[in-house]
Amino acid sequence: MTTEEKQMFKTIIEEEIEKLSDEVQSIQKALYPEKGKGPSDKVAHLNFKLDQSIHIQRYEEATKRLNRLKHAYLKIDSPQYGICQECEEPIPMERLRLMPESMYCVACMEELGL
Ligand SMILES: [Zn+2]
Repeated sequence: MTTEEKQMFKTIIEEEIEKLSDEVQSIQKALYPEKGKGPSDKVAHLNFKLDQSIHIQRYEEATKRLNRLKHAYLKIDSPQYGICQECEEPIPMERLRLMPESMYCVACMEELGL
């Protein structure tokens, strides 16, 4: 991978981290409404509970991905970035562009059941 390509992935990761951090914050707001802004009656409360479980799921997914992105960001200057941790082949650029936090190629990820 060239320095330019690394720089490009750095920018992609920075943008993704920013987007996800915003998402995590807005989910947190939805999960913990301010006083007086919570559900007002029984039906609203039920809907609120339903929404909560969706928010919690989204929150967990977003924070997990955020951690993977931060990890990738720290590793981007090392020669290991963009190399599959299993077969040690370069991960295709197209895949990295969509998922810059990838640590495995598609074949290995499927084999490892990730
Ligand atoms: Zn692989």
